[in-house]
Amino acid sequence: MGTYDGGVTDLRTGKRVLLAKPRGYCAGVDRAVQTVEEALKLYGAPIYVRKQIVHNKHVVQTLEAQGAIFVEENEEVPEGATVIFSAHGVAPEVYEQARERSLKAIDATCPLVTKVHQEAKRFAAEDYDILLIGHEGHEEVIGTAGEAPAHIQLVDGPDGVDKITVRDPEKVVWLSQTTLSVDETLETVARLKTRLPLLQSPPSDDICYATSNRQHVVKEIAPECDVVIVVGSTNSSNSVRLVEVALDAGARAGHLVDFAHEIDDAWLTDARTVGVSSGASVPEDLVNDVLTHLAARGFADVEEITTANERLVFSLPQELKRDMKAAAARG
Ligand code: SF4
Repeated sequence: MGTYDGGVTDLRTGKRVLLAKPRGYCAGVDRAVQTVEEALKLYGAPIYVRKQIVHNKHVVQTLEAQGAIFVEENEEVPEGATVIFSAHGVAPEVYEQARERSLKAIDATCPLVTKVHQEAKRFAAEDYDILLIGHEGHEEVIGTAGEAPAHIQLVDGPDGVDKITVRDPEKVVWLSQTTLSVDETLETVARLKTRLPLLQSPPSDDICYATSNRQHVVKEIAPECDVVIVVGSTNSSNSVRLVEVALDAGARAGHLVDFAHEIDDAWLTDARTVGVSSGASVPEDLVNDVLTHLAARGFADVEEITTANERLVFSLPQELKRDMKAAAARG
């Protein structure tokens, strides 16, 4: 692994790495992964998990090896078994299906996604038209839209603005997926406002702190980078956004990799400065592997660029904590 020495460029090779901080695990992912681990310890394998608990190949494979079984829908879970809902959240009908099958459901939805669900329910109850900015087909968007399908329309980026229709232009609010590009969302909102000047904004930012912090630091380092390597999976929205943000901010190239061995030596041929970051669902071990891989190719000097320090921690889901407490009391 590279040396954290204040980032003096290696005078022999002229090569360096700019390592973005914050990167990697956010509080919601940390909680979701711990939820599966603790459930496996408490109830024993197998534990069923509906959808990928977080969008990261390595995390899913590691939990599978410990006894987690990932399924797409509740019907695949045997009646009466334990099922964990992923960090991305689910529509109310998914809880209903779980009840019908007598499943023991543990909800690992990130509290910041739950916050958007609550906003959707509140505005729907007040009979607003809700414009949900997000990526069509993403699990989080499906879950949020499921809270109030009759009131919610999806706006998939600035080009989706022309397709929307509202009942009352004075009673419209926009909400968003938590893992979008901050800049692109601002552009979408600006375009919406040209059509709907009285459009209301969410009570607080829906794009979460982890998404915006990771984008902010990548924007800082990108102009100096010949190539930015983001560690993350292709189905991870916030990871994919980091590559786009890097390119928009001036990086000459950007690539998403799940593992260090996917780095093509050709990407490094003429590079002097390589930026490294990772999505919110990526364990730090995978970043360390990338740094080791780069060091072996002459990029041994690593400067960590920090634009924020994150301390947020979420407690485990209530239903799991309750069972853990009961088990501890039984000794
Ligand atoms: S990226 Fe944001 S919304 Fe998603 S799990 Fe992490 S903290 Fe929660």
